[in-house]
Amino acid sequence: MPKATRLAKQFTASPTIAMNDKAKQLAAEGHAVIGLAGGEPDFDTPPHIVEAAVKALRDGETRYAAPSKGIAPLLEAIAAKSERDSGLRLNPMSDIIVTPGGKLALFLALKAMLDPGDEVLIPAPYWVSYPSVVTMIGGMPVTIETTSDDSYRLRLEQLRAQVTPRTKAIIINSPSNPTGHMLSSEEIEAVATLALEADLFIISDEIYEKLNFDGRPALSLASIPEIADRVVILNGMSKAYAMTGWRLGWLAGPAEVIGAAGKFNSQTATSAATFTQHAAVAALNGPQDCVEEMRQAYQERRDFIVSGFNSIPNMSSPDIEGAFYAFPKVDRTTKSSDEVANIILEKAVVVGVPGSAFGITRDAHIRFSFAEDMNKLREAVERIGAMAHLLA
Ligand code: PMP
Ligand code: GLU
Repeated sequence: MPKATRLAKQFTASPTIAMNDKAKQLAAEGHAVIGLAGGEPDFDTPPHIVEAAVKALRDGETRYAAPSKGIAPLLEAIAAKSERDSGLRLNPMSDIIVTPGGKLALFLALKAMLDPGDEVLIPAPYWVSYPSVVTMIGGMPVTIETTSDDSYRLRLEQLRAQVTPRTKAIIINSPSNPTGHMLSSEEIEAVATLALEADLFIISDEIYEKLNFDGRPALSLASIPEIADRVVILNGMSKAYAMTGWRLGWLAGPAEVIGAAGKFNSQTATSAATFTQHAAVAALNGPQDCVEEMRQAYQERRDFIVSGFNSIPNMSSPDIEGAFYAFPKVDRTTKSSDEVANIILEKAVVVGVPGSAFGITRDAHIRFSFAEDMNKLREAVERIGAMAHLLA
């Protein structure tokens, strides 16, 4: 029998998706489980967006999208949104491609940038898919660990120390999954300096840009003129518009990279679903109050969950600036994050994702999504508080 590749054997499925599936399975078996593993809005997609998709289907928008890189009204809507929000001047026809989900956009961007063996700097804690996708493409992920004690700050010296002649790109995610950290102006300067010094691409994952708290808007790295020609923005509809199941993301950046990613897109996905693209046009061009309402709900939940975890004697959570994840640390423990996540699953029947999945091994962190109903969050914190002494 022919065998699957060596990579296939050593590869693991996405741990966030796996834990999410596990929570759903436990619920189906009748367990009183609270699943906070998946990073997915609990809100339904706003009705005017759903209606636009239904209309598109009724209008016969059921064929391959043309052009395959995205229908013109959507490319134009993304260009207009990028100008409105970040002052960018993008050519809709050469600087943007639409993909079936931001995750595939990441794959295509890296495929366009990396030759085999090229290295990519990835600050940790990182979103689980960054190193996996780099590896899938034949690149080498190079992790730079930041810590909660240092407010997850990125430092130029630490970044510089990891640069080699093979370093080709750095992945930045602000607001961050899993910490919510938003880059300060000093950190942005450090990333820009490094990218210029070492001649790197920057993948700027801005998928949580709309979910920022306390009135500090997220800044697009592409709005910094000195580095604009090396920044590839990754964004999508999933988080801001509660559209995870619609699978729609995009890349925006230098025409060379976008053109290459577009070729790979046409040879793999062909295009994102056509009626989904019409829905995205309605979302981006339509009223934005729904985004703001959801953001406010996340902010209230953030307030609750940060104080909730900090009220548990052996757990602590720094403030969370954006996205919808808490990443509390278990203090004074000898246990690993995997052990902690398992004990919480067993004793509190609350499902989170261990910090190890996000590249953090030194401390025992666990990620809980707070894109969930407040009653569930309250109960989760109560249950964890009642058994947290077992985590010592
Ligand atoms: N980037 C980050 C940081 C994420 O958390 C996600 C969520 N899966 C994505 C990109 C991609 O999202 P999607 O594929 O749903 O567009
Ligand atoms: N981004 C979300 C998460 O981190 C969805 C799952 C995934 O794609 O990893 O949980």
